[in-house]
Amino acid sequence: MLQQAKGWQIGQPHHDGSTGFALLHCQQRFLQQADGGMFWPLASLEQRFSPWLLDIQGIGYLDGQPVFLYELTERPDDEQWQWVSLRSQLGHENADWFGMLSYASQIGVWSRQHRFCGSCGQPMQSSTEHRMRYCQPCGLQQYPRLSPCMIVLVTRGDEVLLARSPRFVSGLYSCLAGYAEPGETMEGCVHREVYEETRIRVHNLRYVTSQNWPFPHSMMMGYHAEYLEGEIIPQEDEIEDARWFKIHQLPLLPLSGSIARYLIDLHLHERSGSSKPVLPR
Ligand SMILES: [Zn+2]
Repeated sequence: MLQQAKGWQIGQPHHDGSTGFALLHCQQRFLQQADGGMFWPLASLEQRFSPWLLDIQGIGYLDGQPVFLYELTERPDDEQWQWVSLRSQLGHENADWFGMLSYASQIGVWSRQHRFCGSCGQPMQSSTEHRMRYCQPCGLQQYPRLSPCMIVLVTRGDEVLLARSPRFVSGLYSCLAGYAEPGETMEGCVHREVYEETRIRVHNLRYVTSQNWPFPHSMMMGYHAEYLEGEIIPQEDEIEDARWFKIHQLPLLPLSGSIARYLIDLHLHERSGSSKPVLPR
């Protein structure tokens, strides 16, 4: 049954080879046709791309149209085509468009990485009921992976604690962030990561919001925390520089639309009455 709702909806449409459109994906890039479109008509697509076809997944509906992911083993070249990165679509004016590509890419990564059982090595089968792969011989089940990660804005009066990783573009500073360890709460993760990265202790944690970050499959949980004690000592190899910035003398910040920027803009709003930022999606 076709979904009639507007916008992007996750689902598992049935693949009959003619109804709907396909996204062609390989390692966080999508294949664009000569006319700039990223939606490929399904007719003869399987045949045309059969040498590289790894998997087909019904991933949902865009404006009521079924959307399928064609995951390819590698990126075939053609002078008429272009491989477009997921990252380049991050600031797309239509948030539903990025939401769809983000989901497609994460399903593609999962499909590619779970073709064989990690326990006994046998080929995995796809469930027809859930987005799940399972191993018939040993019973292992694999769902699309999400990696929980905290991101926190630490504040001290009119100052915010920002840091830069060696990977960042020149001059850019952002909030502290890090992945949760097994057995840890998100709040425990905030305390541990802030201390490891800067030797600062924090308190009065407040959960703010979350954002799925598909590079490749992070679930960012955003917090605000207040400074408690300590002097900044940046963690070797991880943190190139960390410092307190006055809120009216901020460095180059992450792009709008990221949860890092949202946490900073929200604090500015609460502290100085600047306009309230829009929640990231
Ligand atoms: Zn197995």
